[in-house]
Amino acid sequence: MPAHTRDGYAWTPQGGMKKGQFACVGVVSPIHNVKSPSDFVYDVVILGGGYAGLSAARDLTNAGRSVILIEGRDRIGGRTFTIKEDGFGYEMGGTWVSHCQPHTFRELLRYKMDRDLITTRQHGYENDYYTFKVPGLPTRKVSHEEAGEISARGWNLFVDIDGAGGRKICPLPHAQLDNIRVDRKEVEKWDAYSCWDRFQEIKHLLSVEESGLLLSLLLHISGGEGNLRNSSLWDMIRGHALCNHAFSDFEDVWFMYKLREGQSGLARKIFDDAVECGLEYSFDSHVGAVEQLPSTFVRAVTRDGRHYTGRKLICTAPLNTLKSIEFNPPLSSLRQEAITAGHINYMSKIHAVVEGSGMASWNGACYPNVLLYAYGDGVLPNGDAHVVAFGTDERHHFVPESDPRKIVQAFHNLHSMDVKKLVFHNWNNDPYSQAGPCFWPPGFMTKYQDELQSRHGNTFFASADWAHGWRAFIDGALEQGFLNARDILHELREEDYERSSCRSAL
Ligand SMILES: Cc1cc2nc3c(=O)[nH]c(=O)nc-3n(C[C@H](O)[C@H](O)[C@H](O)COP(=O)(O)OP(=O)(O)OC[C@H]3O[C@@H](n4cnc5c(N)ncnc54)[C@H](O)[C@@H]3O)c2cc1C
Repeated sequence: MPAHTRDGYAWTPQGGMKKGQFACVGVVSPIHNVKSPSDFVYDVVILGGGYAGLSAARDLTNAGRSVILIEGRDRIGGRTFTIKEDGFGYEMGGTWVSHCQPHTFRELLRYKMDRDLITTRQHGYENDYYTFKVPGLPTRKVSHEEAGEISARGWNLFVDIDGAGGRKICPLPHAQLDNIRVDRKEVEKWDAYSCWDRFQEIKHLLSVEESGLLLSLLLHISGGEGNLRNSSLWDMIRGHALCNHAFSDFEDVWFMYKLREGQSGLARKIFDDAVECGLEYSFDSHVGAVEQLPSTFVRAVTRDGRHYTGRKLICTAPLNTLKSIEFNPPLSSLRQEAITAGHINYMSKIHAVVEGSGMASWNGACYPNVLLYAYGDGVLPNGDAHVVAFGTDERHHFVPESDPRKIVQAFHNLHSMDVKKLVFHNWNNDPYSQAGPCFWPPGFMTKYQDELQSRHGNTFFASADWAHGWRAFIDGALEQGFLNARDILHELREEDYERSSCRSAL
């Protein structure tokens, strides 16, 4: 029997809103496993048990290093977790995976999960079509293929900033800023653009339908403000390049394949692997400060006064939470500036259980709406459909846990349906995320990416929020865990070698 997490909400018309108490295999028991004495110096202290922290912990412990992982939540997985309710696995955060995501696919192969995928799109249920509502036009019902074609036309015009569908300006999306084919100055020019700027350039080429669908897609992806002025164009160009510059691959890469065991199943496999190799850990442990000691060791101090010391420390706290950790010595002014600016993705992701199986094959978009996009996504054991929907930054007038009727209305705006239950997590007011997946404002990448990826003394920073390639994805988190563990292993080896050479010279 899996233990229960306090994260997440579920609402039914009869039972009202319930917070937490959801079965989740990402909850570890007992919550502390600290065997070393309090003055022990670990090789590495890791702050955060999302995918960046877990993959680093696994790589370091597998290499024989002593590691402790400190996590503020009651579970692993960070911005991913799967809850089991009604015999169904609800993905509350990060969900979809693809073989185009190299670090993710390698993890799936490693734990033999690569063949055990399930699909979101399932044809054959009654409402097997797409509906969209955009201002100025009556609701339209079209085939999935036709909706794909309308979306593709708007999107392809939008990303075609170089006359080659982004292939010239972003040929190597894992090395956007420094690669052999593009002048960095050219990237900097485009990075200054917002999605709004680009939309103004092409809107005269679009039909009303194409405009509406493009705007809702851009907001769905960026989670930014409704006018798209704080969403960077570059992050869209990068996303397109990561799909091999082909919109036809977009759905298959971004919204198709899920793990049968759920994200918490994969996270648990990485965690258990690390524990088998000696990982120590402490959950429910909020790190309030990170201090570099005169000895060059680094110390993480929890809010309740415990401290853990390491030769190196990896901080995986998301960009928008870094302001709540005190660093001593202070972080560079450039990094502090980036942290103060933060990223702009304040999206919402909400699951609905809908009477009957009919809506399992349906997709739809409605712009403007609190929920812009929704996808039929499987059938529960009781025969009801599961529909998952996404909205953009609506914080100024919408707090989902306080306003379930507004959510139900937003589902009805998309399509008539009998909503029996809502399930979600509010990532925007969660102290350990303070937003959704990362999406940068204009100019952010060229100004801050290098700094965010750099170390601060013996503190290293690993997060999907500043990954090279799949930034804002599970793959980006795994990339960052891998890269930082690799650099630290190399450095520890050199330090150990120097120390043993000094000893043998004496
Ligand atoms: C709603 C949603 C949908 C998404 N959909 C997808 C998708 O379909 N596919 C995809 O690939 N990606 C998706 N993502 C993005 C993906 O989930 C994240 O980019 C990725 O999981 C981030 O991993 P991370 O390890 O970098 O950060 P996190 O997962 O945020 O891990 C950081 C950890 O640090 C801990 N922490 C923070 N501060 C402290 C502190 N002071 N003390 C102790 N611990 C602390 C946090 O609790 C957390 O566990 C989605 C994300 C969200 C929110």
